[in-house]
Amino acid sequence: MKDNYNRDITYLRISVTDRCNLRCTYCMPEEGIDLIPHNDLLSFEDIVEFTRTAVSMGINKVRLTGGEPLVRKGIVDLVRMLWNIEGIKDLSLTTNAVLLKEFAKPLKNAGLQRINISLDSLDKERFAQITRRDKLTEVLEGIEEAIRVGFKQIKLNCVIEKSKNEPDAVAVSKYAEEKGLQVRFIRTMNLEKGEFWIVDGGEGGNCSICNRIRLSSCGKVLPCLFSDLGYSIREFGNEKAILLALENKPKSGTVSSNNQFYTVGG
Ligand code: SAM
Ligand code: SF4
Repeated sequence: MKDNYNRDITYLRISVTDRCNLRCTYCMPEEGIDLIPHNDLLSFEDIVEFTRTAVSMGINKVRLTGGEPLVRKGIVDLVRMLWNIEGIKDLSLTTNAVLLKEFAKPLKNAGLQRINISLDSLDKERFAQITRRDKLTEVLEGIEEAIRVGFKQIKLNCVIEKSKNEPDAVAVSKYAEEKGLQVRFIRTMNLEKGEFWIVDGGEGGNCSICNRIRLSSCGKVLPCLFSDLGYSIREFGNEKAILLALENKPKSGTVSSNNQFYTVGG
């Protein structure tokens, strides 16, 4: 399906929860957030039904994100349900890896093909400073398990302040090389100030080739991360909400006061 600027929209990112077991300084406040009431969260049936419609309209690539997708109860079942939809060529997930040691194998068995893992530092204290949780050991064990299980692709997402020459980023680069993993360096963005950059080693942040729409955990189809536009699937139904997002997808992002990385998943 094409938007008004002739971009072919083939990629759907689904945020399955706004909850998270870390509190990264650039993403969430220390005290946590006002959680979406459970009844407002989309059920797995809602998500699968929506995805089926999206795939029938031209989506072929799906990524699960959050908050932290592995804290959503039954996430492995959701992966299995989505992988059963005919027409999905690529199913992936973005995670902080805190729970990945436990989930890597079941996720792979359920059909998950690729995984992106967030890792900003290899220094225990720096990691705890950035994420406000002392979980580096669990994360590294999660990465080892993902490698062992043998996903088609594992990428690391490393958030940097300005440059990939910062000490934390250099260490992550070296670690990735040792483990044979790719790294994407993401400069810290600010939704409210409209500060975003092209992702080094990825496709994000480049409006002219943007092929994405997003489904938020409370059921809005978002045409752009850096915009306040959003169309509720409860109000419009799946197809109409997708068409509205497509018709109104801005040529390029500006600012967003509604969206947060933890509700829309980056
Ligand atoms: N919890 C999972 C994780 O951290 O991988 C998935 C959701 S998280 C919101 C998705 C991605 O967004 C992560 O790679 C994270 O580093 C990135 N992110 C969050 N806040 C950001 C910000 N202000 N600027 C740039 N990237 C950000
Ligand atoms: Fe949680 Fe991911 Fe946000 Fe960090 S970036 S607080 S891990 S949702």
